[in-house]
Amino acid sequence: MDDPKTSQSLFGPRARIAPSPTGYLHIGTARTALFNFLFARKHGGQFILRIEDTDPKRSKKEYEENIYEGLKWLGIMWDEGPDIGGDYGPYRQSERVDIYEKYLRQLLDENKAYYCFCTPEELEAQRRDMISRGLPPKYSGKCRHLPPETVKQYLAQGKHSVIRFKMPPKEVKFHDLIRGEIKVDLNLIGDIVIARNLREPLYNFSVVIDDYLMKITHIIRGEDHISNTPKQIAIQEALGLPRPIYAHLPMILGPDRSKLSKRHGAMPVTEYRKMGYLPEAIVNFIALLGWHPASDREIFNMEELIKEFSLKRVQKSGAVFNVNKLNWFNSQYLRHLSLDKLTKIVREYLQKYSDKAELLKEYSDEYLRKVIEIELTRINKLSDLIVLSDFFFEKNLRYSPDLLVWRDMTLAEVKQSLQDSAKVLQQINQKDFLRSNIQVKLFEFIEKSPQYRGDKGRLLWPLRVALSGKKASPSPFEIAEILGKKETLRRIEVALKKI
Ligand code: GLU
Repeated sequence: MDDPKTSQSLFGPRARIAPSPTGYLHIGTARTALFNFLFARKHGGQFILRIEDTDPKRSKKEYEENIYEGLKWLGIMWDEGPDIGGDYGPYRQSERVDIYEKYLRQLLDENKAYYCFCTPEELEAQRRDMISRGLPPKYSGKCRHLPPETVKQYLAQGKHSVIRFKMPPKEVKFHDLIRGEIKVDLNLIGDIVIARNLREPLYNFSVVIDDYLMKITHIIRGEDHISNTPKQIAIQEALGLPRPIYAHLPMILGPDRSKLSKRHGAMPVTEYRKMGYLPEAIVNFIALLGWHPASDREIFNMEELIKEFSLKRVQKSGAVFNVNKLNWFNSQYLRHLSLDKLTKIVREYLQKYSDKAELLKEYSDEYLRKVIEIELTRINKLSDLIVLSDFFFEKNLRYSPDLLVWRDMTLAEVKQSLQDSAKVLQQINQKDFLRSNIQVKLFEFIEKSPQYRGDKGRLLWPLRVALSGKKASPSPFEIAEILGKKETLRRIEVALKKI
């Protein structure tokens, strides 16, 4: 059972995401996690979360928590991880130092790794020398052959050192499930540092040990790690460990095809949540960053993605991140929710993220549902709703009286117009205060009033602004119905006082 060679095929693949908690969960890491998750689920295997926190200066608990929160919110759930345990833990690298030490000692004892005492100045001089001789810069190998007594003596003296891996002088070949066969000449890489000391291993070393002991069968990760793969294979071979299968995902690019950055709208997953994107829309969107389904269908829920997913349809070339596309997905998902469900989501969202959360308590679900209903076609994400519909929840609208003026109307005419609207609306019964009725009654009035007949904006614009305080909003009929007769008339009163 200890040997992944014999156990891996019996239980399906084991894939993992191995984020370093040195920043918030980024959309790129979420995509890598999703592809690993889909792959594992599709083939009845396991998805493992490992926290790579070997850099104590940059790793923070807050980031680790953010990674859990983001993945959970997206519905990318792991089967083993630091928070839930599993048979191959611990799953946090900082808790595995004894394990790494054992393997580091093995490499040192077998003369496959060695202590290097070169100072930064020496390393820099070696580098410059190689460049001047037209050679690719790499470690010169100076400390490779230090006599054991010298090493012992230097260590006893506390001379600064690192542990280097003796890179074998050969070519490494590996098959990448996405990119095909890849060959790398290890001579070009040289003896890499694999640990600062026995208790402080570095990424390329610890990852090999962990992937082996956690019985990872498939390593699916970003293309930025492709240059690490030959190094990791060389370390595996030196320790006699089996080789997992590799797949390197295409980079995510901005619309200008440069590396994705904040400038292109790439943010931590929790920021997207704050902006009011639905997790289902983000999952659907990131699934298509580099992968495409067999048909040209675009909308997939998680279950459907699991069914459809295949590494065979992951492209080699970079995947462009297009915020407009994400907005489109989100608006699709918003529109396909039932109004009841959406109302629940919106209330939770506003309570968490709007500064008007307190005000919201006064409004019923019925009221909120009506607001959502008329704004739905105008929004891509829930934060748009806060901007567009704040006036429904605001008792004191702040707008300048100039906004009430339609075209060349005088203030006196605006005043008259608002009084006329109030009179018409006053005559509608409370129970008939519905948008269609309101519209019919106002239009009837316009028809018989010469001052409005030629330009109905002269009646409807001041009314709409009085109710919304905004330059653009839904029609006054829709707003009036939602506000109700009393609040509608009150807002007209307030507007009249402003003039
Ligand atoms: N800790 C590495 C990272 O966050 C993991 C890379 C890998 O998947 O091997 O990029």
